[in-house]
Amino acid sequence: MRVKTRQTFRFYPSERQQRQLARDFGCARHAYNFALKLRTDSFKEGKSINYNASSAAWTEHRRDAAFSWLRESSCVPQQQALRHLQTAFTNFFAKRARYPSFRSKHGRQSAEHTASSFKWDAANRNLTITNLGRLNIHWSREFQSTPTTVTIIKDCAGRYFVALCLDEEKEVLPKTWQSIGVDLGISRLATLSNGERFANPRHTMTYARKLGRLQRVLARRVKGSNRRALTKRKVARQHSRIASVRKDCLDKLTTDLVRRFDVIALEDLNVRGMVKNHCLAKHVSDASFGQFRRMIEYKAGWHGKEIRIADRFFPSSKRCSGCGFVHASMPLDVRAFTCVQCGAKHDRDENAAKNILNFAEVIPQATAGQAGSNGRGERVKPRAASAVKGNARRSVNRPSSMDVEHVLHS
Ligand SMILES: [Zn+2]
Repeated sequence: MRVKTRQTFRFYPSERQQRQLARDFGCARHAYNFALKLRTDSFKEGKSINYNASSAAWTEHRRDAAFSWLRESSCVPQQQALRHLQTAFTNFFAKRARYPSFRSKHGRQSAEHTASSFKWDAANRNLTITNLGRLNIHWSREFQSTPTTVTIIKDCAGRYFVALCLDEEKEVLPKTWQSIGVDLGISRLATLSNGERFANPRHTMTYARKLGRLQRVLARRVKGSNRRALTKRKVARQHSRIASVRKDCLDKLTTDLVRRFDVIALEDLNVRGMVKNHCLAKHVSDASFGQFRRMIEYKAGWHGKEIRIADRFFPSSKRCSGCGFVHASMPLDVRAFTCVQCGAKHDRDENAAKNILNFAEVIPQATAGQAGSNGRGERVKPRAASAVKGNARRSVNRPSSMDVEHVLHS
């Protein structure tokens, strides 16, 4: 199966390239903000401006002598910025996102190039970009296809990356006839219904504590001072360190699960509601839950595996997976318990994983990751979560085309 993927590589620009990149980022940002202001102003007057109209206005604006500096940069990232704004508006009108906001010169910067403004030499692995020339890229992994778009990114920690949109061949993995329930936790990353445990990545909490300390230092720094800028970069670096450790760990876990199991059952967690609390440990793990869900969904889609979701309101930890008795309460500090009805001894998380496996619902195939692209071939977030939630409560025994028996008895 051919799937669209995005792979990111670090690169090291020369000083000349850094200066040109600063111009490219600035021009793309200017285009985005120009069109956003135009569309917002006309929206207030009751008119609506579509992509074509904003593009025409932008072409006119570029001809303006006062803005001749826009012509020192390739027009492609500017045009792409207008397209990104269009996507942001589409998502806003479909109630998937908030109203687009202006882009700031502080923080992460990006400029997207299409086939007309870059050259890819597959044999020598050379990526050449208009006005920039050849990039010094650290090729950290393999890929076969020709990039369709190339996005240049400068992150908050001042590092440069290229993100390539690729059209890669993914193999449908052989059937294993195994299914599994997964319980995601705070003290432990994941517990499986067969008793396997996956620990949280090492050092994550040390990194998180260091981040907290740096953030407190940042709060004391005088606005606009050099020391504040320096601390800010350190905070950003620490953030990215935590994120990459977490991503690496989740990548390994999800790949392992997708290889070994045909059906993977998860609990539907209200991630948005959970991230609001202030406890550090929980904060770190909450961010993982959403990322885990997205990763396992797209990987299952790539490799022909199935994800099932257990209702968020289902009492997965209070219920005995052996006899079905639902206990009145199960405080978070109870790590193991004995069922008062059948006397079975349970590990809390393993019991929850077993319940998740037994009660997970089938996600409609269309939302299970394969249909994750829109008309322009860009990836969009599957709207599975809300659709599944609605159905899960109404029909407990919804007939499915898949092998339900196989799930219930394994
Ligand atoms: Zn029991």
